[in-house]
Amino acid sequence: MNTLTLGINFAYVISAGMFILGLKMLSSPATARKGNLVSAAGMLLAIVVCLLNAGLDYKWIMIGMAAGTVIGLVAAYRVEMTSMPEMVALFNGFGGIASLLLAWSEYHQHPELSIFIAMVTFLTAFIGGITFSGSMIAFGKLSEMIPSKAVVFTGQHIVNAVILLTAVGSGVMFSINSADSYMFFIVIVGVSLLFGITSVIPIGGADMPVVISLLNSYSGIAACAAGFVVNNTILIVAGALVGASGIILTKIMCKAMNRSLGNVLFSGFGSKVHAAGAKGAQQGEVRPATAEDVYYILEGADSVAFVPGYGLAVAQAQHVVRELGEILEANGTDVMYAIHPVAGRMPGHMNVLLAEANVSYDQLVEMDDINPKMDTIDVCVVIGANDVVNPAALDDKSSPIYGMPIIETHRSKTVIVLKRSMNPGFAGIQNALFFNENTRMYFGDAKASIQALIAEFKSAD
Ligand code: NDP
Repeated sequence: MNTLTLGINFAYVISAGMFILGLKMLSSPATARKGNLVSAAGMLLAIVVCLLNAGLDYKWIMIGMAAGTVIGLVAAYRVEMTSMPEMVALFNGFGGIASLLLAWSEYHQHPELSIFIAMVTFLTAFIGGITFSGSMIAFGKLSEMIPSKAVVFTGQHIVNAVILLTAVGSGVMFSINSADSYMFFIVIVGVSLLFGITSVIPIGGADMPVVISLLNSYSGIAACAAGFVVNNTILIVAGALVGASGIILTKIMCKAMNRSLGNVLFSGFGSKVHAAGAKGAQQGEVRPATAEDVYYILEGADSVAFVPGYGLAVAQAQHVVRELGEILEANGTDVMYAIHPVAGRMPGHMNVLLAEANVSYDQLVEMDDINPKMDTIDVCVVIGANDVVNPAALDDKSSPIYGMPIIETHRSKTVIVLKRSMNPGFAGIQNALFFNENTRMYFGDAKASIQALIAEFKSAD
């Protein structure tokens, strides 16, 4: 091994260490931002060192990097917080197609492959293709360019099994280096793109976050396989890290919804509208409250738990919530923020928003920690959350969200729900919490409603 190769490998080890350290730091809100920077610096080092490899055509690399940088920068600046999952879906898709194209280009240039390289070329193209088309469907569903509910049809599993068998058969033929290997490669590309579509269309509703996380993992596995194709150590390591962390996140999310991965992938959640909880179905009387009513309830409370959801992100109400929290604390109230793992539209959505508003990390309480003490909490203020506080998940076996753990606000002494209307949330089902005797509905845009509450507190001073 010459000195340059030794230096390159040494730098890759440092990059890999930085990725792992960065990932570790992402596990706490207090260190997450720095963790992101550490990983990004590791990636910069890996890219620079990789470019030192001899024999590269820098012209095309520079064009690719410039185009990618411009697209990435514009997308990151323009994306709304509420559209972040769509962006993640798109980026996963780009990762998948990049791996597929890399495998294709390598095979095109060096068609004589050993069995091992042929196998990893097949895996790269196949998983990369699924990731690309599956992510495009997920993007379309999340951005509502195509219907977001699950699309199921008779014989779907058989169709998927046939596609999968075709892919595996073509992969074997390609790997044993048959005379028609180019044709088999094209078949692999075609069926992988098809399989991405047919495996994501039956998934919908509240299962989409799990799929995004799974596709993220696929993009990592494809990149890892691509690393073997081009014999690049850091691509293998980075891909493996993305693949493994995506799978871990997928598992955590399945657990948060009390579903198995198989059930998420194959049950067609959200394809049928739940009759009893269908959009708009009333389940009793609602008790609306004014800003003044809510002020009196909060003013006399010893403990208040804010329960944020997707509507907090829509209203961009995080700063005013923090301000209200501080007013309550100054009034002697114990204030906390109860975070459901799938509240919002992406993992960690609520943590990111509240961190942006400088809410103290000590005040964030996870679902499993707040539920046991829910009976002792005076007031839960549900801000633009719906599915994640729906008691049907606990007691209505026919509900599509049955079994998903929720923040059990209905067990607190009083619940105040901030939302604009009686419209349902993401899962498209009505919420019995809104009709409970201890629930008051405070209608309006969350930010404007909280500003009105702050005004009430200030005018009472
Ligand atoms: P939901 O989507 O269930 O409910 C959001 C509520 O916010 C709606 O009822 C809506 O009611 C209200 N809302 C919207 N805009 C405003 C506003 N400006 N002011 C006040 N309220 C507003 O959100 P949850 O967070 O409770 O649940 C998340 C759901 O999304 C779950 O089903 C989850 O599985 C799914 N999901 C989660 C992802 C994740 O990774 N976290 C990703 C994708 C989906 P109204 O219109 O009446 O105002």
